[in-house]
Amino acid sequence: MKTELKRGTMTEPVLALDDLSVRFKLKRGELNAVDGVSFAVHRRETFGLVGESGSGKSVTARAIMRLIPTPPGEISRGQIRFEGRNLLDLPDEEMRSLRGKRIAMVFQEPMSALNPVYKVGTQIGDAVRTNLGLGKAEARERTIELLSLVGIPAPRDRIDNYVHEFSGGMRQRVMLAMALSCNPSFLIADEPTTALDVTIQATILELITRMIEKFDMSLIFITHNLGVVAHACDTIGVMYASHLVELGPRKELFRNPQHPYTIGLLNSIPRLDTRSKHLTPIQGSVCSMMSPPAGCKFHPRCAQAMEICRREMPEFREVAPGHYAACHLHGRN
Ligand code: SF4
Repeated sequence: MKTELKRGTMTEPVLALDDLSVRFKLKRGELNAVDGVSFAVHRRETFGLVGESGSGKSVTARAIMRLIPTPPGEISRGQIRFEGRNLLDLPDEEMRSLRGKRIAMVFQEPMSALNPVYKVGTQIGDAVRTNLGLGKAEARERTIELLSLVGIPAPRDRIDNYVHEFSGGMRQRVMLAMALSCNPSFLIADEPTTALDVTIQATILELITRMIEKFDMSLIFITHNLGVVAHACDTIGVMYASHLVELGPRKELFRNPQHPYTIGLLNSIPRLDTRSKHLTPIQGSVCSMMSPPAGCKFHPRCAQAMEICRREMPEFREVAPGHYAACHLHGRN
């Protein structure tokens, strides 16, 4: 499903996905992990990409970084335009140089991105030296500066520690320092707070948003928890079963959600502005992406499903200025 998003008089986006589709050819069959996803992120905008596990959020992020393992994966359709160029047309070497220098990523599990056998300072310092061309002493000073910036206490001492000597929250700070080491203009944070305690989550999220402002960056923040992005993002995109099902400005989306799945996600997070003490989880689980249902992928879990929902995939329609939803309840003539 190709979606044309009207952007009125807004400036050119820094990043624009247009009909992005990613599939994996597995022995068991073909799996469409991302199907026809389109959205744009503007300069200094923070974009929250939300959905349950398996909805295609992380694959979307990895496609932007061109980190889809090929085979079995491939970007089968669409464009990823970054600063005016389609990343899918860039030679591998140019893409490698862009990663880190222009677009950086913070992963959910720091241990998968940090090497346990090297000192933290060595790992950040190597990135700084390679990408910024600094000498050893300058790179060490820059690393100390970065560790201090992300709130690592006594950075001159901690620079020579190994990853296992840091707590989960501190490791995530180190990951952020590494991502910021080359002054990228775009940051993708893939569930960076999921493995942490709730209080540490809030601190890391606040740190990321502060860094976004300080470094004048744009951000895609990926999470399965709408509550996490309730205050932090300008725009929110909701993914379900490889499709973008709702997209809109944060306030509008929280005030006036249009897709039953988004409403379900909102009903399953604790809120202070309501008297109800009960949370209502969404019934059922995400469909198998190897054999998704026909029509709207959400219909087996949707209390409002109609006959048409079982047959036809709903179009992604503008339901209010800048607010889009893919649901047969809206916009049928
Ligand atoms: S299209 Fe139908 S099944 Fe899908 S979310 Fe809307 S009402 Fe529910």
